[in-house]
Amino acid sequence: MNLIYDYSKERLEEFFNNNNMPKFRATQVIEALYRKLVSSFDEATNLGKDTKKILNENFSFSNLELVRTIESTDTVKFLFKLNDGNLIETVLMYQSYGHSVCVTSQVGCNMGCKFCASGVTKKIRNLTSGEMVLQVLTVERYLREKDLNVSHVVIMGIGEPFDNYDNVIEFIKIINEAKGLAIGARHITVSTCGVVPKIIEFSDFPLQVNLAISLHFASDDKRDKYMPINKKYKLDELFDALDIYYNKTNRRITFEYILLKGINDTIDDAEKLTKLVKRTNAYVNLIPYNKTMHDLDRTDEVTRDKFFDYLIKHKVNAVVRKEHGTKIDAACGQLRVNHDPKLIKKDTD
Ligand code: SAH
Repeated sequence: MNLIYDYSKERLEEFFNNNNMPKFRATQVIEALYRKLVSSFDEATNLGKDTKKILNENFSFSNLELVRTIESTDTVKFLFKLNDGNLIETVLMYQSYGHSVCVTSQVGCNMGCKFCASGVTKKIRNLTSGEMVLQVLTVERYLREKDLNVSHVVIMGIGEPFDNYDNVIEFIKIINEAKGLAIGARHITVSTCGVVPKIIEFSDFPLQVNLAISLHFASDDKRDKYMPINKKYKLDELFDALDIYYNKTNRRITFEYILLKGINDTIDDAEKLTKLVKRTNAYVNLIPYNKTMHDLDRTDEVTRDKFFDYLIKHKVNAVVRKEHGTKIDAACGQLRVNHDPKLIKKDTD
């Protein structure tokens, strides 16, 4: 059975078309799923008997089980169990500008960045677009009980979205659908560690989605050491791809830069970073390192401020990222696939 949430409007239209039914049924299904938040076709008051029958015969509703929700003041972490028993995490962040969901795109991750917890478990599989949609939808249900809505989506959870490109693109189309969740393209951000061919492909994607690059190091020797992707695509190649992207889309790129004590936080690093990012109209997010199992420390505040001041003085648009979710291990780089069966048992007892 196909998961209904895997289906974009176009694909639903095709389905109805193939079954000799009018195309506008697709929009009705989308309204029922994402506006009314029905959890079965039978609940949908805008669908007729025949439509419900054919939908019930062809589509299933969910393959995500919410195992537990952990709340802190500005963050909520959702732990999900997939059909195949794998666990993934999703995070809701209450921001000054809205309610942002950090979505996981893969079970595990193959990128192997040496500062990130997510890659400790290698990729087990890609998530389907529907499994990503269901993460957003669960948070939307949670927020609606408080009369709130999801306003922003960042694909920055576990996994490398550009290693699961087609499903991620389909996911973006589904949550952007005007008659559905209608998350504006400018409110969606996809983050990559630098999968060059996909960055080039992404420059032809028609929606105005934001692109973030996990840069973290401004020289090949350092980046090679901590980010294996850099051995495949050197900084020059990455920035050539970003030039293509920027020239085609004119969209501002965000660079993520984790400040690691004694590793990438000197004025020399700031100078190299400035030279690099000036090639495009960029925005630099300086990220405090969050503790993981890796033996690394965050840069102290004085050094961080000097680094930041250097960037500002040299006219780089930079901000120090506000911290979220550190108390509940829901911060950047702390999400992971958790295989501890005791954890699930304890939470459902
Ligand atoms: N694979 C994609 C999507 C994950 S985004 C990517 O690399 O962009 C997760 C973000 O958190 C990335 O910018 C990542 O580099 C950053 N991150 C990873 N580990 C971190 C840590 N320990 N502290 C702070 N940020 C971290």
